[in-house]
Amino acid sequence: MVTLKKAFLKAGVVTEKQLQQMEVRQHQDKVQKQKHQQAVQKQKNLDQQKDEKKHTHQIRALCDACEKTSSDVEFYRHKNLSLDKYWLCLNCADNHSIHDQFRETSQSFHAKTGMFIRRYGPTLKGSGTV
Ligand SMILES: [Zn+2]
Repeated sequence: MVTLKKAFLKAGVVTEKQLQQMEVRQHQDKVQKQKHQQAVQKQKNLDQQKDEKKHTHQIRALCDACEKTSSDVEFYRHKNLSLDKYWLCLNCADNHSIHDQFRETSQSFHAKTGMFIRRYGPTLKGSGTV
C-alpha cells in the first residue's frame, strides 16, 4: 500500500525534509494544546478554591477572647468592662457572665442548627437573627 506521504514524495510535491518539518510542527501544536488545557484546568481549580475560601469566611468562628475557633462564636455588644472583645465563643461568654440579651448575631453553626444553648442565663431565641 502506498501511503499519502510516499505518494507525495514520489510525485515530488514535498521533500523528505518538508515532511519532517510538518511532523515536528504537528507535534508542537499538540504539546501546545495540552499545555493550554492544563493551564485552563489549573485556573478552574484555583477558582474553585477561591469559592470555597469565600464560603467558609462568611461564618465567623474565631473567638477573640480565647483565640480559638469554635462553632458557637457570636457577636455580643456587652458592657463588661473587663473584656474588650466582642466576638466570643459560648464558653467565653458564659465565663465572663455576659447575658444573652447582648448577643447581636446568630451566625454560628450551632445557632443555625439549634444547638446554641447558653449556660449563663437564658438563651434568647432569635437574638440578632439576621
Ligand atoms: Zn472563647
